[in-house]
Amino acid sequence: HDLTKHFGANRQILKKEQHPVKAVDGVSFSIKEGETLGLVGESGCGKSTTGRMLMRLINPTDGSIRFQGKNLLEMNDKDMRLARKDIQMIFQDPYASLNPRHRVERIIEEPMIVHKMGNKVSRKKKVHELLETVGLNSSHAKRYPHQFSGGQRQRIGIARALAVEPKLIIADEPVSALDVSIQSQVLNLLEDLQANFDLTFLFIAHDLSVVKHISDRVGVMYLGKIVEMADRDELYNNPKHPYTKALLSSVPIPDPEFEQDYVELKGDMPSPSDPPKGCPFHTRCPHVMDVCKSAVPAYQEKEDGHTVACHLYDDQYMAI
Ligand code: SF4
Ligand code: MG
Repeated sequence: HDLTKHFGANRQILKKEQHPVKAVDGVSFSIKEGETLGLVGESGCGKSTTGRMLMRLINPTDGSIRFQGKNLLEMNDKDMRLARKDIQMIFQDPYASLNPRHRVERIIEEPMIVHKMGNKVSRKKKVHELLETVGLNSSHAKRYPHQFSGGQRQRIGIARALAVEPKLIIADEPVSALDVSIQSQVLNLLEDLQANFDLTFLFIAHDLSVVKHISDRVGVMYLGKIVEMADRDELYNNPKHPYTKALLSSVPIPDPEFEQDYVELKGDMPSPSDPPKGCPFHTRCPHVMDVCKSAVPAYQEKEDGHTVACHLYDDQYMAI
């Protein structure tokens, strides 16, 4: 709730022209048990920082994070250790997150040792089961990360995340570094695992096409804020925010019946250390109005669960 991360905010001496970087600026959302929430936006929009705050790899500047009814930010060390086991992360670059000097069996066993699970024999057994679960096999246990392909390394990263039987998995661009042909294999694997292990996913991506199949709901982030959120089909069929429309315009939809409301995305995202006043998207928005340059659009629910932050949906403009 109202999750905020301003980097450099507590630094005493900021040079005159230096501003804190508003990486995440008042983000609120919930994830229901068993669902997949997709979080999408261009690089630098704050989606990874949001994911890392949920893991408490980064401490928020403001806001609260409730996990199974408890505020993660007020937990004592013991409860936090338990929560750390229940929330696991899968990273974009599996190679960077796997220790190159360790064999695969050690890599997958390690989180179980950290969380004091089982004994040496039971952990070994579990490592072999996990390898099968993610589509590898026991013969891979003695190898090193560099002996695997990118897709296989991501499978190892997934096995490691599963080792401690988490409830929530934060997947930060887990397929972005993989060849397109491999992406769908890994996405299918994640879906199967979700069904088999009752997992809940926060799935972070920069591309709406990647999260389309896997998500139940999708949130779109821009410059540290969520600008639109809706059920998956609603968001793709009836996008409201001009930024969401622009992101969808860059995804070719192979359906001649589908009339795409084409919005071209011009220029770059402004720096989060110096975000524009008013609507954060106004510098790139084809529908920009005067009000957009001064007033921050409120986040409003338009239809059942479909929320959007854009002045076009303010009542007075809707009426025109
Ligand atoms: Fe565009 Fe204005 Fe809506 Fe922002 S508030 S997305 S600038 S129309
Ligand atoms: Mg990122």
